[in-house]
Amino acid sequence: MSESMQERAQPVDFDALRERYRTERSRRTPDQASRGYLDMQTDFAEMLDDPYTQATPREPVDDEVDVLIVGGGFGGLMSAARMREAGVPRIRIVEAGGDVGGTWYWNRYPGAACDVESYVYFPLLEETGYMPTERYSKAAEIREHSQRIARHFGLYDLALFSTQVTSLAWDAEANVWNVATNRGDRMRARFVVLTTGPLNKPKLPAIPGIADFAGHAFHTSRWDYAYTGGSATEPMTGLAGKRVAIIGTGATAIQAVPPLARDAQHLYVVQRTPSSVDARGNAPTDPDWAASLKPGWQKRRIESFTAQFTDRLDIPNEVDDGWTVLANAVRGKLAAGRPLSEAGAMLQEADFEKMAQIRQRIETIVDDQTTAEALKPWFSLFCKRPCFHDEYLQTFNRSNVTLVDTQGKGVERITANGFVVGGKEYEVDCIIYATGFEVASDFASRAGFDLRGVGGLTLAEKWRDGLATFHGLHTRQFPNMFFISQAQSGMSVNFPHMLSVQSEHVAHIVSHCLTQGIKKVEASEEAEHAWTDTIIGQSADRIAFLESCTPGYYNNEGGSLELAARSMPYGGGPLAFIQILEDWRWAGGFNGLELDRVSTAQEIT
Ligand code: NAP
Repeated sequence: MSESMQERAQPVDFDALRERYRTERSRRTPDQASRGYLDMQTDFAEMLDDPYTQATPREPVDDEVDVLIVGGGFGGLMSAARMREAGVPRIRIVEAGGDVGGTWYWNRYPGAACDVESYVYFPLLEETGYMPTERYSKAAEIREHSQRIARHFGLYDLALFSTQVTSLAWDAEANVWNVATNRGDRMRARFVVLTTGPLNKPKLPAIPGIADFAGHAFHTSRWDYAYTGGSATEPMTGLAGKRVAIIGTGATAIQAVPPLARDAQHLYVVQRTPSSVDARGNAPTDPDWAASLKPGWQKRRIESFTAQFTDRLDIPNEVDDGWTVLANAVRGKLAAGRPLSEAGAMLQEADFEKMAQIRQRIETIVDDQTTAEALKPWFSLFCKRPCFHDEYLQTFNRSNVTLVDTQGKGVERITANGFVVGGKEYEVDCIIYATGFEVASDFASRAGFDLRGVGGLTLAEKWRDGLATFHGLHTRQFPNMFFISQAQSGMSVNFPHMLSVQSEHVAHIVSHCLTQGIKKVEASEEAEHAWTDTIIGQSADRIAFLESCTPGYYNNEGGSLELAARSMPYGGGPLAFIQILEDWRWAGGFNGLELDRVSTAQEIT
């Protein structure tokens, strides 16, 4: 009987699995150099060019606004929308892309779709009166929804597109941020909201010879339809007769591989670590269901989804899809008589069982058993972004598709003609890098600007020994600035949920300051220490989990997690974090913030 048959026939052997996970992890951490990456801005800047929009010439802007928002993705749009609702008069959005959408502006690769249910992922559905067409909508529909939000709240007039902030410097005399851009703008802003996103800077692996490739190459977040032909929905006719390699098998590649296999003469899928790929089960939106929804339905559904990743098992699972299977499994074990005190152990068991199912599913779908074995993920479900797809695994049954498994080592070398794995050269016409985004680097450098707070202090200097914030949103010596991120803040796998919470909170503070004549707001030293200590104090379990995981961007590529305790999200869970912010607003005292008033109301208008 094969190993896989035994897995089906016998209950899951947890000890054996733990050992296998450890072995697979250690196969992937022999040396950090092989997991390094290049700074594309210096080495491959042309690969970062915007392939979708030609920047329109315009005069530089030289003026002052109340709020400048860096980033026109969901976070920036929601921040601007909430500020508009709160009556903030002068708002400006600065966006590097040629339109709103953020990650959905840049990521137009074939097959791109949201992997969290549209009904909870799309922000502001009830406010904008829109219902997504599918349960998991394609990228174009999500991009169009970003545009809908911008139109609905009148945000287009506030935006400078194709504009990259190059520096932000605090002027302590005038209590404003001086903002410079790559378009020659010199603006002043009383408040700045940074919504640049965690995955905004594409990365290329530092594979020896990467510059030598004589064929065509691009990163998935700058899809070159001029080369491939077609579109996200139409066949890529330019790939007919082409040998294509896609490097990486993360969430992006899982979606891009099926259309590439359909259109290329031959596709090599180059894998270092397989993703977990469960069934998707997409479907068009049921109009009867949509018509049956009562006002307030989206907020309830969003909260229900987020609750499934917390200990709030009393909150019914409205979405009930692949993301929430572990919560359901724990509920099942409780119903079978296990005590709540064993919740942690039950979660771990549920995870082992789920991953065993995911591996079994591969065997039932993939015909070639060597390929099936290589596609099996050996780690806990949330060590990497879980993936869902109904065509990815099936693609490996095609005769024009080859899985090139690098045995955890990655590509050895790129040559003029192709790539080398296991000493063998594979000749290709095109290499597509599905190698992800910089996550671990310093916030400001990732966002691409020089950021200096009080006395010229850089953010890198301030956070040299790790993050220090109040609520994840404020950091002392960077007054009137708000950081929209998951670090020291709330985290939901449904990113827009937390963006919505944070933008509401920030709009509340900014509008209070503007109406009350407050020129400067800054986290107090005590509040920042206390919050950071809270985050560190709650981080041990999460760090231990990440240390056990196969390397990837979640755990600094398997490298040091020394500073990671300070970058963790709030450990009490997202719902508790939301409650903290709500209670703080209700209390009304702006505790933890130092508010500096101006003498007359005129000074703020
Ligand atoms: P990613 O998850 O970071 O994956 C990068 C891939 O490149 C990994 O498979 C990595 O292997 C591989 N890789 C890196 N260097 C390599 C080398 N030298 N040789 C071979 N392989 C190499 O990036 P991503 O797939 O773009 O996804 C990033 C994030 O974007 C996701 O986690 C998710 O949050 C988001 N996303 C969301 C959606 C959605 O549907 N909503 C879709 C796509 C992406 P290792 O695993 O071994 O490191």
